[in-house]
Amino acid sequence: MIPFNKPYLIGRELDYIKHAVELGKLSGNGQYTQKCQALIEKTFDFKKSLLTTSCTDALEMAAILSEIKPGEEVILPSFTFVSTALAFARQGAKLVFADSSSDHPNINAECIEELITPMTRLIVPVHYAGVSCDMGKIMEVSDKYRLMVIEDAAQAIDSKYMDKQLGSIGSFGCFSFHETKNIIAGEAGLLTINDASYNNRSEIIWEKGTNRAEFFRGEVNKYGWVDIGSSFLPSEIIAAFLFAQLENITNIQNKRKKIWSLYLANLRALEEDDIIKLPVLPEYATNNAHMFYLVCRSLEERSNLISFLRQNGIMAVFHYQSLHNSPFYNDKHDGRPLPNSDMFSDCLVRLPLFYELTEDNVNRISELIHRFYRTNG
Ligand SMILES: *Cc1c(COP(=O)(O)O)cnc(C)c1O
Repeated sequence: MIPFNKPYLIGRELDYIKHAVELGKLSGNGQYTQKCQALIEKTFDFKKSLLTTSCTDALEMAAILSEIKPGEEVILPSFTFVSTALAFARQGAKLVFADSSSDHPNINAECIEELITPMTRLIVPVHYAGVSCDMGKIMEVSDKYRLMVIEDAAQAIDSKYMDKQLGSIGSFGCFSFHETKNIIAGEAGLLTINDASYNNRSEIIWEKGTNRAEFFRGEVNKYGWVDIGSSFLPSEIIAAFLFAQLENITNIQNKRKKIWSLYLANLRALEEDDIIKLPVLPEYATNNAHMFYLVCRSLEERSNLISFLRQNGIMAVFHYQSLHNSPFYNDKHDGRPLPNSDMFSDCLVRLPLFYELTEDNVNRISELIHRFYRTNG
C-alpha cells in the first residue's frame, strides 16, 4: 500500500528532543523555539515570527490581533480548510465566501472588490498548494479600501509571489507544520508579524495575555495579566523536532520538487488530450511542491479513479468541500452560487507526495492513472 502521506525523520529530530529534555526546560519559548524562529526569519527574511501549536492557532492569533468586531465582514475563499474560516467565526465575524478562479483553486482576486461593503474589514487569501494568490491585485484592493490582509500560508512555506516570500505580504502570515505539510512537527504552526506595530501585543496574546516575554528580556521588572490571550506556544519537544526539519529544508524541498516534476512529466499526455487538468502555475508564482493534484471531468469520474487507485494499493484523496455549503455555514451564506469552488470540491484528486516516496512509486501511480483512462475513456 502506498499511503497518501507519511511522516518521516530527516536528521537529528530525536537527538534534539533528547537535548531539549537535558536542557531542563520543556515548556514553550525556550532555546529550540527561539532557534526555529531565528532560522525561519533568516531563511525567509521575515521580520518577526512566533511558533504556535498549529496554523489554526496562528490564524486565531491573527484574528484576535486584527480586532475584528462581531458583525464585521471577512472575505475568504470557500474552497479552503475549516480553520481559515473558524478563526474569524469565533470572533463573531460574518464570513463572505468568494469563488475560486476557473483554472486554479485560489480565490479569484478579480471578484473581491464587488464583495466589499462598509462592514468589510479583512481579506484572507489562501495560497492553495503553496501557489501564490494574485497578491498584486489583492493588495491593490486592500489598500484602496483600507482592509487588513491575513495570509493563510499553511501550505506555502518556501514559496513566493514575484520576489516576495508568501506570508510576508499581508499584516500577518500563518503557516502549518502539520504532518501533511512540507516541513513537519506533528502539530505546529507559525505566525509571521509583518507590521511592527503588532510586535508587542502578538507576544502578549501568545503567552496567555501576560507580558512574560518582555519580562524575560529584562524590559519590565515584573510580569502579569495585561490583555486577552491563550496558550498558543508549543512545547520545546515540538520545537526540537521542527528545528531538525528546518535545518534540512533544502534537501526536503529538492526531493519534493523532483517528485512533483516527475508526476507532471508522466501525466502531461493526459492533459494534452483534454482528459484531465494539471496544476497551473501563474507567472507571478513559484512552486514549493506542496501538493500534486489533478482535476477530473466529473464527480463520478473522480470517485471511480480514487477507488481504482485504492484497489491497486494507492491512497489518493479528494480535498476541501466548499465551506459555503457546509452544515455549519450553509444557512448563514448569502446564497451566491460559487461554481468553481464546487467544481474543485467535486473533481480535484491529490496524489501521494511525501519525502520517502520513490521514483518507482511515482511511475507506478502515473501508469495506473493512464491505465484507468485507457479503459474508462
Ligand atoms: C493545514 C491547513 C490549515 C491548518 O493547519 P494546522 O496546522 O493543522 O492547524 C489551515 N489552512 C490551510 C489552507 C491548510 O492547508
